[in-house]
Amino acid sequence: MTAAVRIEMALHRAFIFLGPPGAGKGTQSRRFAERCGVPHLSTGDMLRDAVTRGTELGRLARPIMERGELVPDDVVMKMVEERLAGPDCAGGFVFDGFPRTLPQAERLGRVLEKNGFGKPVVVDFEVSPDVLMRRLTGRWTCSVGGEIYNVYDAPPKVPGICDHDGGKLVQRPDDRPEVVKERLVAYERQTKPLAAYYRRQGVLDVVDASAGVEQVSRALEEIVRRVEGRDGRL
Ligand SMILES: [Zn+2]
Repeated sequence: MTAAVRIEMALHRAFIFLGPPGAGKGTQSRRFAERCGVPHLSTGDMLRDAVTRGTELGRLARPIMERGELVPDDVVMKMVEERLAGPDCAGGFVFDGFPRTLPQAERLGRVLEKNGFGKPVVVDFEVSPDVLMRRLTGRWTCSVGGEIYNVYDAPPKVPGICDHDGGKLVQRPDDRPEVVKERLVAYERQTKPLAAYYRRQGVLDVVDASAGVEQVSRALEEIVRRVEGRDGRL
């Protein structure tokens, strides 16, 4: 990734990336935002930042997060609304992992409209459950240096041992098969209806997220070009 490949555009719109855990939307959304020169917005990061800075929202959210509970929609929406009013968001922005639920999507639509943004561009990262299971349950992490391996796609030279520092590889609780299955089921139930919602609005694009990082990046670029052709204003 170099500055030369930066996509020059004033989006003035929201890009929303939908996809299950393991679909690679974190990596792609960061990369995409950087190339477009727009902010990458993750509500998780925003909440943690508000807590660190001790803002009013942060003080409200902190005890909830410390109890391990979900921060209520009202709080999240207020935070998103404040963030979108920031001058750096005027040229557009990329949401990573938001909205998660239909009520959030509906409220976001109203916030976007109120702030003069057009309809969002929504990209659904489609991956087969088999590929997701492999990606997530195959992930083992070095207990010393934190290096990440995948026993199927990027195995260490010696099983169970880190190539760099000889550290023991461990599987994070979140990456165990039974937990992964639960995460994927929760995603299907809660977030999958969003794809249908945005499809009905005519703003949904789909990428094959089983493909490699470069290929998915190119597919996203093509979507930008297509939106540009449709709207003539990007
Ligand atoms: Zn290591």
